[in-house]
Amino acid sequence: MVRLPSCPICEIELSATAAARSKTFPFCSERCQQVDLLRWSDGKYAIVEPLSADKLAEKQFEDEMDGQFDDAGY
Ligand SMILES: [Zn+2]
Repeated sequence: MVRLPSCPICEIELSATAAARSKTFPFCSERCQQVDLLRWSDGKYAIVEPLSADKLAEKQFEDEMDGQFDDAGY
C-alpha cells in the first residue's frame, strides 16, 4: 500500500500528482499554506532565544538615547 502524502494542516490526503505538481505542496491548498505561515508568524513554532544581559543593556541604552532626542525636540 502506498502511503499518500497528506496536508500537515487539515491532514487531507494529497494525490501523487498533486504532490508532484502543486505549488502549495506539502499543503493541500493555498489556504492551508497561509495557516501554516500564520502559525509561524504567531511564534507558536518559534524558538525563543532568551535575551542576554548584554543585549538587554544595549537595548536599554538605545531606548535612553531615543528618549534624549525626543526631549531635545528633534
Ligand atoms: Zn490542507
